[in-house]
Amino acid sequence: MTEHSHPTRRGFIKTASACAAHAALMATPFPAAARTLWSERTQGRVVAQEPFGRLESLSEGLWALVSTPLGGDYTTVSNGGILAGTNGVLVIEAFQTPEGALWMAEKARELTGRWPTHVLVTHYHGDHSNGAQGFFPDGTGPSIHVTGTTRRLKREGMPADTEPLLRGIWEDAVLLAEDRPGSLDLGGRTVLLSPWQGHTSSDVTVSLPDEGVTWCGDLVWNGMFPNYMDATPSQLSRAVRAIQSDGSDTYVPGHGPLAKDADMSRYLEVINGIEETARTARREGWTAEEAGARHEIREDLGEWTLFNPSYFQRAVEAWMKEWSGG
Ligand SMILES: [Zn+2]
Repeated sequence: MTEHSHPTRRGFIKTASACAAHAALMATPFPAAARTLWSERTQGRVVAQEPFGRLESLSEGLWALVSTPLGGDYTTVSNGGILAGTNGVLVIEAFQTPEGALWMAEKARELTGRWPTHVLVTHYHGDHSNGAQGFFPDGTGPSIHVTGTTRRLKREGMPADTEPLLRGIWEDAVLLAEDRPGSLDLGGRTVLLSPWQGHTSSDVTVSLPDEGVTWCGDLVWNGMFPNYMDATPSQLSRAVRAIQSDGSDTYVPGHGPLAKDADMSRYLEVINGIEETARTARREGWTAEEAGARHEIREDLGEWTLFNPSYFQRAVEAWMKEWSGG
């Protein structure tokens, strides 16, 4: 999803109307069959189910949110997580709307007995970050963890009339290193925070090496073709290969159902496929638009939906941009 407007109350109305426009645009490419497939691919025990998503239990103190926006409910949009330790509770992502973040915080309290103490936002895109205010219903809330690049991009996108509370949330964010992995000790559970580039100029993954679970942010999409709006495609491919080689049992993608190793391989084939089309376009002199219109995902790679019909074209454009040195 693209960056929407800011998550103040007034901003949310703007966001909602922008999304309504999206919804009209998005209505055609989602056959009912794809939606069914999506909703059936549950892996963990479902502890909460809403029109916008479901919370799946992964193991003691670990849950993954799988958002299901294809039905038209954009409360959360991105996937996320709840990770509990004896000293703290980390929520991954701040979601599309304050309502989505508030729902996640309330679930964290129900399931763990405490309000989130930490929130990690994997990158600056609105569907992962615009809801941050929802974690602060009475003005106080968790520490927000982002890279400096993500914070800068968030602040640059903030209108001058942004509410002080929301401005403060991002000003006070705790910054993660962008040149080496870091960690966060939740008490009896230490999470590894790894910086990457590829989907945007600053992405972070969250992993539990001992438990075999990795939250990939939007470096990984499952059953849904990724958004290349801000992508540097060669870095994206590199990051995906490295993430897959961490040997996790479960990968929580930024969008789509939980992924296993085979799903990661399938996703790599999908992004390799668009690279091949982009290379053909360069050789044959096709425009990105022509290449996007010609591109097909290999049938044996299963059903892949597009958030937006222009996503193939965007991906080819991202490759062309990278090759031209831009
Ligand atoms: Zn996203």
